[in-house]
Amino acid sequence: MPDEPFVFIAERLWLDFVNSDDATRHRGAERVDAFHSFDSFIRWMSAVRALDDDRATAMLRRAQQQPTGASATLHEARRIRNTLRVLAERGGAPPDRAAQTAIGEINRILGRSAGSRSIEPGPDGSFTRSFVTVGDVFAGLLIPIIESAADALVSGELVRVRRCADPRCRRLFFDSTRNGTRRWCEMATCGNRAKAARHRRKEKLTTGTT
Ligand SMILES: [Zn+2]
Repeated sequence: MPDEPFVFIAERLWLDFVNSDDATRHRGAERVDAFHSFDSFIRWMSAVRALDDDRATAMLRRAQQQPTGASATLHEARRIRNTLRVLAERGGAPPDRAAQTAIGEINRILGRSAGSRSIEPGPDGSFTRSFVTVGDVFAGLLIPIIESAADALVSGELVRVRRCADPRCRRLFFDSTRNGTRRWCEMATCGNRAKAARHRRKEKLTTGTT
């Protein structure tokens, strides 16, 4: 998807993953699923550095040899994404059945992973965790995402997970502001729209027009 500038605004990998179900194209004019194909899913994972370039290329090659495995993997990624969205949208509410289901999914994926972990330095001085599975090549793809969600649960971050204040926007993010005051996914889109609407209301009031 060459005209798809992936947007990473959530400050947490697992929340950016959830937001991929509501990506935008053509400067926000069209809303799309960023995982509309296995290839787009891999490109997203590569863009967010949950996969390094060599492994991403290997995955795309393997997908051509094993199209059924690739489409099952894509299907699972979308299903897990729905589950994680439910968990994220609950925020800090006490655990209920939906949360239990999500935790069950997280544990299922963590439990089936056999492989090796490493830390890899990036060109900009940052570091990423990498996980290389043994056995089924597709099996470990979701591990970095799931680990990010698990970290959020363990560290009690769910209370700081918010949904964008624009009701038309489904994006979620981690609010890292000191006072917990972040309201918008992005100032450039939803934040500015709200600001413009406030401005219009104010003008109406001062001019007395209705
Ligand atoms: Zn928004």
